[in-house]
Amino acid sequence: MKKKSRKKIICLIGAALVLCMGFGFFHITAAAQPQRPLVIVIDPGHGGENEGAKYDGYMEKEMTMVVARAMKEELEKYDGVEVYLTRQGDEDVSIKDRAAFAGEKNADFLFCLHFNSSVHHSLFGTEAWVPAEGAYYAKGYSFAQIELQELVGIGLYSRGIKTRLNDRGENYYGILRYCTYEKVPSVLIEHCHLDNEKDKKFYQQGRGQLEELGRLDATAAAKYFRLKSEILGIDYGDYPVPETNIPKDIVRPDKTEPDLCEIEAGAVDKSTGQVDVHIEAEDKDSYILYYCYSTDGGNTYFPLEEWPRPEGWNQSSKNHDFQITVPLDEETELRVAVYNGFDLLTESNIVTIEPVINKELEAQKIAYEKALAVLQKEMPEKFPWSGQLTHRSNDNEEPPDENLTDGAFINSEEDNRDRESRVNAMLVYNVIAGIMICIILLSFFMAKMITSR
Ligand SMILES: [Zn+2]
Repeated sequence: MKKKSRKKIICLIGAALVLCMGFGFFHITAAAQPQRPLVIVIDPGHGGENEGAKYDGYMEKEMTMVVARAMKEELEKYDGVEVYLTRQGDEDVSIKDRAAFAGEKNADFLFCLHFNSSVHHSLFGTEAWVPAEGAYYAKGYSFAQIELQELVGIGLYSRGIKTRLNDRGENYYGILRYCTYEKVPSVLIEHCHLDNEKDKKFYQQGRGQLEELGRLDATAAAKYFRLKSEILGIDYGDYPVPETNIPKDIVRPDKTEPDLCEIEAGAVDKSTGQVDVHIEAEDKDSYILYYCYSTDGGNTYFPLEEWPRPEGWNQSSKNHDFQITVPLDEETELRVAVYNGFDLLTESNIVTIEPVINKELEAQKIAYEKALAVLQKEMPEKFPWSGQLTHRSNDNEEPPDENLTDGAFINSEEDNRDRESRVNAMLVYNVIAGIMICIILLSFFMAKMITSR
């Protein structure tokens, strides 16, 4: 009995210990959950006097506000998230104050929203700028990969994820610089270019498009933080967030032009003027982003086109083939330019494409041949080689009526000259005959007069 009760006591103590350990474990896992909600600060770029880019009646400061509000509304549907905007309306807030606000809120991330434009309205696509140093770079870069995937998903062209430094070697963009001072991870998103035809379809179809951009920004953030939303029935708990190694040194932008840009051109199609062009291009520090071509040796260029980057946005193909159409009657000085991810360009060699036909000479030749053909028909004995010409003339694809126009004119002139000389000869004969008759008559009358005396 004694042994049994001792066993019972030991069992009870053991059970109590297991229970305690279980609660303890539970307590530890509960403690692993964030104590406070995730704090996200959204910065709608520009505001007040600072209007940002303007194009076709669209103003960047208004657009960033629409996107920011939609992003906030969407993010608030996820569990355990607090979202703030750096400005509430159309007001001027300094970049330093925006970053300080994120610092005060102890934000986990600041998302700075913008739209782009370029000096020559030539650039298009979407891009993300990240802080150049350490963990701020790594966090920005990981998030930006998800963000650009979302934007490329609706058809935007990725210009890539980049750093930019000022003369002092610090982050060029103030919001990234000040957020790093405040120890807040940050990213600057340039959604698309307002001033390029290729990007207009992504924002000019109504306010809903801007709100959609905001929802995509929110989805990217939700995936990055592996959020869960009961309202949306979404759980990104297992989302494979791309890992980025923390760089030891500052990540510097590519400051040099593409290393290689060479072209070759095939033969011109004589009926369509189409030419096959082959470009070989490379940038060892970054990647080729765009190409464009010129038919006047590089004085003027056609709009930029996407360069193939099948291995991912930060790598580019070495070769690209495309077709252009050149005028058949003019010389073409073909030249190509390629741009790298940092908008620096290298021009190619010039390939001269000779004109296939000279229109004026060709027209003269055709008229001459037609005239000859008509003449030899009229006077075949004068053209012993006429068989050849007749044959060539018959080969001409143009309608016979048109064929005769020029020749007929030349022929009638020739006829006139013939007729004129014939008339002249007749005239001389008649005059001579007249004079002869006069002489005969005169001598007849004179003889009669003499005999009658
Ligand atoms: Zn802007």
